[in-house]
Amino acid sequence: MSRLTVLSVASEVFPLVKTGGLADVAGALPRALAPEGVDMTTLVPGYPAVMRALEHGGSVLAVADLFGGPARVLSGTAEGLALLVVDAPHLFDRPGNPYVGPDGRDWPDNPFRFAALARVAAMIGLGDLPGWRPDVIHAHDWQTGLTAAYLAYADRPRPGTVITVHNLAFQGQFGPELLGPLGLPPEAWSVAGVEYYGQIGFLKAGLQFSDRITTVSPSYAAEIRTPAGGMGLDGLIRARGADVAGILNGIDDTVWDPAADPLIPAPFDLKTLKRRGDDKKALQTRFGLAADPDALLYGVISRLSWQKGLDLLLGEIGTLAASGAQLVLLGSGEPALERGFLEAAAAHPGRIACRIGYDEPLAHLIQAGSDALIVPSRFEPCGLTQLCALRYGAVPVVARVGGLADTIVDANEMARAAGAGTGIQFSPVTAEMLAGALIRTADLWRDRDAWTRLQRNAMKTDVSWRRPAARYAGLYRDLVAARGGG
Ligand code: ADP
Repeated sequence: MSRLTVLSVASEVFPLVKTGGLADVAGALPRALAPEGVDMTTLVPGYPAVMRALEHGGSVLAVADLFGGPARVLSGTAEGLALLVVDAPHLFDRPGNPYVGPDGRDWPDNPFRFAALARVAAMIGLGDLPGWRPDVIHAHDWQTGLTAAYLAYADRPRPGTVITVHNLAFQGQFGPELLGPLGLPPEAWSVAGVEYYGQIGFLKAGLQFSDRITTVSPSYAAEIRTPAGGMGLDGLIRARGADVAGILNGIDDTVWDPAADPLIPAPFDLKTLKRRGDDKKALQTRFGLAADPDALLYGVISRLSWQKGLDLLLGEIGTLAASGAQLVLLGSGEPALERGFLEAAAAHPGRIACRIGYDEPLAHLIQAGSDALIVPSRFEPCGLTQLCALRYGAVPVVARVGGLADTIVDANEMARAAGAGTGIQFSPVTAEMLAGALIRTADLWRDRDAWTRLQRNAMKTDVSWRRPAARYAGLYRDLVAARGGG
């Protein structure tokens, strides 16, 4: 089988720039796909962190004017990733995260910043860059949604296109007056084009024009076809019918490896599970909790937003603390939630503790040291923290939605009789049902043999990229064949 060349287009990529799961996926795919016969290069914006990491500054492939300023397309490597970089200082040489400035507000020229990324992706797709003609362009989320639209309106031979929806809640909508300035033709202003409820919809464009649509779990793929889960785009997603597929994410099992994790004090595996007790103690100490091996220690690692359902957990904190359990939370986001958890910690010293912020090493310690990880999301396209939790034997307690439904096997009596449970699920996503799940979790915790079986099952679950990578490779090959190549 001949090798395929795929250009992945992403607004963030681990370990260079990360605000969420998208970066993890974009960062992991190239290595996971190499054994599947796919050579993936990732096109990213030239944020300061990317420019700093680019080895030897990269080599210049093209120079162009891009939305009011000079730009270069650089080719190079950073952190083992093969990259193409849109070096456009007027768009990307800024402090802050990829989307918002230091004042916490979206950059006002975000439509142009990400249209620039899509525009360069389209140039590469059309063969305008020397030495480059990918078989497939794989775009991610709204930031890259215009890629397929630019390709469609160019009316020249183009590669196959795939867009992956990592979170339908972020759609990238901008005023209609930007149509011309973004370089889109007048005919793009139509329901069959980029128009979306009177605005230009970047994600809508991606869903409209890409040959294939994927999202990050089979359950989420089903949910986004419904009015309840489709966030206004369900009609279009239903219309795309068989072109929509759900492919679960994996995690990088070398970064997340409890047996060889330099970020935890006591690495462990299935045979040395007892060592986990030392990680628990270290975690309790780090957070100022009583170092009690018998207290059921819950962990949370999350963005603090409505999506993640942590307001429901906040409502149950008193009961949780009264039951003798402990909770450590690491996260940042909505000020009301940050305040709520800080107040809960102050009200229950020694039992509840939180760190507001983003801390990758601390996330590893929480996975290794907590007994159970709570993920009460109202919706969850895939979710990565519960996959890490499985691998680290932190029993996931999750809402039965999206990827959480697909990756955790509820330890109900039937599953336990079959020796199959890996965690606890609850549904619907309400405070009452979460409270019930916490009671079930505490019951299981009291039966240490049952708990250990659950942990072992969890740790044996294949959460690697191997299966997902094979599915992506299959999708690319089908697409190339369907378009008459390969
Ligand atoms: P989302 O992308 O919706 O935020 P995911 O579960 O898909 O949620 O991915 C979140 C990723 O970010 C995981 O790898 C998780 O461990 C990490 N993460 C989230 N919040 C924090 C934090 N405060 N500190 C460290 N890592 C975090």
